[in-house]
Amino acid sequence: MNELDNEVHVDVDTNACVGSGTCAMIDPEHFSVVDGKAQVVAERVPATEDLEDAVADCPVQALSVKR
Ligand code: SF4
Repeated sequence: MNELDNEVHVDVDTNACVGSGTCAMIDPEHFSVVDGKAQVVAERVPATEDLEDAVADCPVQALSVKR
């Protein structure tokens, strides 16, 4: 599997996001919180372990991953 095969799109449900910052704390390379809402740094990002952890640990399940 090459790098591109391993890239995913991460969707932030901004209605659900409560701005806890958990995702940005776990995976600061891919997430930041701007004006109380999470943002993903790029349209497609590498599916790293940190990314998976951040998605799994969002307290309101606001993050979803699409291949
Ligand atoms: S962990 Fe979830 S609720 Fe917290 S900032 Fe990230 S997307 Fe929003």
